[in-house]
Order: sequence, then structure tokens, then C-alpha cells
Amino acid sequence: MNRPVIGRFAPTPSGRMHLGNAFAYLLAWLSARSRGGEIQLRMEDLDTLRCTEENGECIRSDLRWLGLEWDRETPPQRSRTAAYEQALETLRGKANVFPCWCTRGSLNLVNAPHASDGHPIHPASCREASEEERRKHKTPPAWRLEAPDLQVSFTDGVYGPYEENLKDACGDFVLRRADGVFVYQLAVVVDDGEFGVTEVVRGCDLLSSTPRQIYLQQLLGYPQPAYFHVPMLTDREGRKLSKRDADLDLGVLRQRYGPETVIGLLAHACGLLDRFEPVRAEELIPAFSWEKVGKKNIVPESDGITGADNGT
Ligand code: GLU
Repeated sequence: MNRPVIGRFAPTPSGRMHLGNAFAYLLAWLSARSRGGEIQLRMEDLDTLRCTEENGECIRSDLRWLGLEWDRETPPQRSRTAAYEQALETLRGKANVFPCWCTRGSLNLVNAPHASDGHPIHPASCREASEEERRKHKTPPAWRLEAPDLQVSFTDGVYGPYEENLKDACGDFVLRRADGVFVYQLAVVVDDGEFGVTEVVRGCDLLSSTPRQIYLQQLLGYPQPAYFHVPMLTDREGRKLSKRDADLDLGVLRQRYGPETVIGLLAHACGLLDRFEPVRAEELIPAFSWEKVGKKNIVPESDGITGADNGT
């Protein structure tokens, strides 16, 4: 199949961009650009309380500073409610979408947290509730999709074959919350599908979300993109670097280093450069290959840009 390559950056503008985000965007950009592909930018701002336009502007500025430019920005998720509503209607016609009044607390009482993502597996009780029981509730429900007894498998471009039984490993999952907000799993599938994204490059913490997204794509009739889940950034002790490590956000890094240093550090840490040297992102395009990027955790170390070197 020879579709033109369309990749995307899908930041959540709830804070400043972190070195870990920059790493995933660098690889998304190189993967698309090395095959003449397009890059889209999309603000995943469903969480309207935490996401701000100001953070979005910082992210755009950080991407430009890193030399990771994009070809078009597709509409932010907060403006896409009508599209998600339509998708929900389509899903109602194809699968079992049912109302659920469970709270997070009540679910935790019923089930041990699920190993892969810490979420409890939803019990079948809501799905099997009668119309009469449903009518007793006075507050709006969340809407869940029944997870079928279906083995979903795909081959990740970095992690290789991955499979999951939706019913056993994930359980019935929420599409729209009780407050009316659509969830990431639905929004990401509708947006990637509608805007023609052919490859998804993102952190490996989202690997276990992919079977749900593939199932939604199948129900909604979207083609399945290629998936590349990239390793997490860690310190030397294997601790994940996260937004909490404020000294690794782009605001701080931009004050201390040039973009070539940050790109060179990431490229060296993941195997794209044999030794650390400052480099522009576009200089990495000709020799880029996913085969050089391993599954091992990435420990970014050079000139003290590392979680392990800070404050210890
Ligand atoms: N919005 C997510 C993030 O910022 C990425 C989701 C995705 O790439 O599918 O981590």
C-alpha cells in the first residue's frame, strides 16, 4: 500500500513541553520527513481546565526552536465536539454503547486496578442494567462501549508484535464522560482518521491504548495507521523523566543550550548518532532509520542534561 506518509505531533497543552515530548516529536518528524511525508500539528486540549492557548503557543515556539516545523495545524480537539458526537452516534449503531453511573471510587471497590494502566476493569453490571434501573438515575451518565471478547493484534514499528484481548485486558471503556467531555481514546481515533494520519509516533506509555483505538477505527471505518511507540526517557537509575522534572522542560533548556545541543543529545541517546555532537534536526534526515532506534530506555546524558546529574 503506497499511501503518502502523514505523521503528526499531538501535544496536550497542559504545560510546557518536556524533553520526553521533544524526543517523540523528533522521531515523528524524522520518520515522516525521511520519506517525504507531511507533519500535522494538533492540540489535544480536551481537558479545558488544564489546557491553555498560552501553553499551546509555547509548544509551537519550542517546536520551531527545535527545527521541527509542521505543514498544517488541524483543529484543536476542543473545537471538535460535533465530529465526536457524530462518531458516538455511528458507534451506537454498530456496537453496544451504554450509560454508566459508576464513579471512580465505586469501581476501585469492585476491582483491583488493571496491571497495565492502573484502571479497574469495569464490571458488567451497568451494561446489564434494565431500562427501569437506568431511569432511576437523576444525573447524566458517562457512555461506555462494551469491550468484545476480541483479540486485537498489531505490529508496532519499535516494540514488535503486540496483542490484547479487549474484554479481559481492558474491559468496557468510556467514550464520553458524565460531564459531557469526550475522552482521548475516541477523539484521537476520529482526528487521526479524519485528517488522514498514516503513522502515529508517540511514547510507549500509550502502547496499551492502541488495541482500543484499533477497535474504534474498525467500527468507524478508518484505516489503521502504522504505530511506532518510542521508549521513555529515564535517568541512570531507570526512573522515568516526566513533567515533574521541571529542569528538563524546554523553557529551562532553551535558556541553557542551543537547539543543536538538545537534538544532538536526543539523537545520540537513541542511537541515531554514534557519538554526541550538536546537530540540526534536518541533518539527521538522510541517515534516519527506525532500525537504529532500540526499545531500551533512553538516558539523555551530555553536559549535565540528565535527571541523574541534577541535584545529585
Ligand atoms: N496528547 C498525548 C500526549 O501529549 C499524545 C497522544 C497521542 O499521540 O496519541 O502525550
